Amino acid sequence: MSDVLEVLNPATEELVATVPAATRDDVDAAVGRAAAAQRGWAALAPADRARLLRRFAAAVDGHLEELARLEVREAGHTIGNARWEAGNVRDLLEFAAGGVERLSGRQIPVAGGIDVTFLEPLGVIGVIAPWNFPMPIAAWGLAPALAAGNAVILKPAETTPLTALRLAELALEAGIPEHLFQVLPGHGAVAGDALVEHPGVAKIVFTGSTRVGKQIMSKCADRVKRVTLELGGKSPNIVFADADIEAAAAAAPMAYLDNTGQDCCARTRILVQRSAYDRFLELVAPTIESIAVGDPLDEKTQMGPLISRTQLERVRGYVTDDLTTLRGKAPEGPGFWYPPTLVTGVAPTAPVAVEEVFGPVAVVLPFEDEEDAVRLANATEYGLSGSLWTRDLGRALRVSRAVQAGNLSVNSHSSVRYWTPFGGYKQSGLGRELGPDALTAFTETKNVFISTEA
Ligand code: NAD
Repeated sequence: MSDVLEVLNPATEELVATVPAATRDDVDAAVGRAAAAQRGWAALAPADRARLLRRFAAAVDGHLEELARLEVREAGHTIGNARWEAGNVRDLLEFAAGGVERLSGRQIPVAGGIDVTFLEPLGVIGVIAPWNFPMPIAAWGLAPALAAGNAVILKPAETTPLTALRLAELALEAGIPEHLFQVLPGHGAVAGDALVEHPGVAKIVFTGSTRVGKQIMSKCADRVKRVTLELGGKSPNIVFADADIEAAAAAAPMAYLDNTGQDCCARTRILVQRSAYDRFLELVAPTIESIAVGDPLDEKTQMGPLISRTQLERVRGYVTDDLTTLRGKAPEGPGFWYPPTLVTGVAPTAPVAVEEVFGPVAVVLPFEDEEDAVRLANATEYGLSGSLWTRDLGRALRVSRAVQAGNLSVNSHSSVRYWTPFGGYKQSGLGRELGPDALTAFTETKNVFISTEA
């Protein structure tokens, strides 16, 4: 395995940077340094920890454009999306800082004494991040873990280490103690695995594929190591005939094309009630054909390239020649381009209909009634997100409760807000991130009984 990581610009295939890949020894040394830094950090007054996190947020805020442009170069995201992502890191740090002084245990009534619980930091947290949203997903683990008094070692994905490294520099400039937040770019099977196996790492927060998530969970089981898993998705977008079909059709394309479909929440299974099916396709087709695909730095661009040649080949492998497709436009190359694609007339059990493609590809499937819609919606191993479009409030509530997914939206595709909980059912994950309990997930509860009768 190479000892350097080559970062390519996915829109041009130009080499942006080479970064040394961390070894197992590097991970071991980083854990030792992190453990020492964590003890000092946990001993700080909560108000001081909060103040330093706010300074870190302010440092990010002062470099939003720089961070966004770096994200465009290493991940190929559109500049508009990249700006949102950099802003999301700032927001998360501020949100987590606000939680520091509110993180508290309970007092529980008992006879003969006082019973109190303490929420104690876990120690050193390993955050293993994917390439599809390098900055926000790193921050989902980083911000609450630091706020709860832990140290963090972040291993970014092989293809996207640059924004993570820059965030670590900004943390230091803001006064976050040295070694409390370290970034170790490296290969998953080396640096990632070393973090998972290291006895000094108390918890792994992993976001990535279900395949790797399962391996990590099984390794963590050997050590009863804490683990949060945010894994794959194949989310339904259910359109009932009673919905505002124009609105549903207008929103459906970007609900799976945003971030070039490399979004765990992408609504890639569009389920449309049969009586509205033809009308829906008629409305959606021109939008798909007119999506602006191209230079990610152009403000008008709606969709950029895929992250890598590997990902491009993966997407091509799913959209075989025998499928009926409706396609938009894409540049020829260089760059890892694939056009917006909608697959029709496919069996609900076809690989493209049930497996995560992670590219700008969705299927449209007809359904008969509410029961059929729920059955189809639940017919994958995943359960991350989903949307439903209807004007019937009773149906909205019934279907929301019946769909096995962690994040649902009605007459909308919005599913991620840092102050609401996020995570998957079934093989989409384990545990929740973000939301009111984000910090608690990085603590251990200790119960202490103090006798008043001694
Ligand atoms: P991936 O599983 O290949 O890699 C994710 C991270 O794990 C990378 O940093 C990689 O280096 C590391 N890794 C790989 N093998 C490892 C090992 N054996 N031990 C430890 N670490 C290892 O995933 P990816 O292709 O980078 O990301 C795309 C996937 O992430 C998709 O499946 C997507 O749905 C998922 N995802 C989920 C969420 C969510 O919140 N549920 C969010 C974003 C992405």
